[in-house]
Amino acid sequence: MPGKVFLIGASPASDLITVRGASALREADVVVYDNLADEALFEGLDAETIDAGKSAGDHTLTQDEIEKILVEKAREGNVVARLKGGDPFVFGRGGEEMLRLREESIEYEVVPGVTSAVSVPAKYGVPVTHRGISTSFCVVTGHEDPTKPEKQVEWRSIANVGTIVVLMGVGNLPEIVEKVTDVRGPGTPIAAFERGYREGERVVWGTLGDVVDVAEREDLRPPAVIVIGEVVRLGSFWEE
Ligand code: SAH
Repeated sequence: MPGKVFLIGASPASDLITVRGASALREADVVVYDNLADEALFEGLDAETIDAGKSAGDHTLTQDEIEKILVEKAREGNVVARLKGGDPFVFGRGGEEMLRLREESIEYEVVPGVTSAVSVPAKYGVPVTHRGISTSFCVVTGHEDPTKPEKQVEWRSIANVGTIVVLMGVGNLPEIVEKVTDVRGPGTPIAAFERGYREGERVVWGTLGDVVDVAEREDLRPPAVIVIGEVVRLGSFWEE
């Protein structure tokens, strides 16, 4: 009998995964996980575990290799849990994996997770929308260098959205800050939430005018969720 692949959002912490995600995980014969998935999730499971962790510059498996493993393991009749940090469809390449499974006629189910984009700021009391302060938010990748000519991210339009949430943005923080400052001004509050829900988590915060210096002084590191906009002032860390 052919198997099935669950594309599961691991959320940022082992106790934030959905009930459905946790039960799919318990059913799994094989677990293929990313480095952003909390390892506590699959401790004690009776399953083969495969590390597909891909920290920048240290590719354990290529995307194509990961997809091949999902297909092969399912064809062998296994229930496969493909565990991705946060939500599988928010910059997780979950869409690509789903399309590959569909193309290969493998049964699959997508189990959403709690995205770090919303939950990590929430932990520190920052709501991405707030009545009277922000009526919209967008989640954008900061991985793309805003100064390169063939860029796809339109920073001028993005900068006009109420709350801007940047994932994978630590490396390009100065360029991103410069683009957004042009539209929003240097007094706009910004916070970077590093390693949310994990050991050593912290928040580095300031305004667009000073955050680049603060981040350098405090040695801000990925992974971090960066939030730009007036809602940051509601955060539990903010003191005027
Ligand atoms: N699918 C994931 C995002 C994958 S992109 C989700 O929905 O959360 C990877 C980026 O997500 C990181 O570079 C960082 O910006 C953010 N991220 C994921 N987990 C995080 C955490 N626990 N703390 C801070 N940032 C996190």
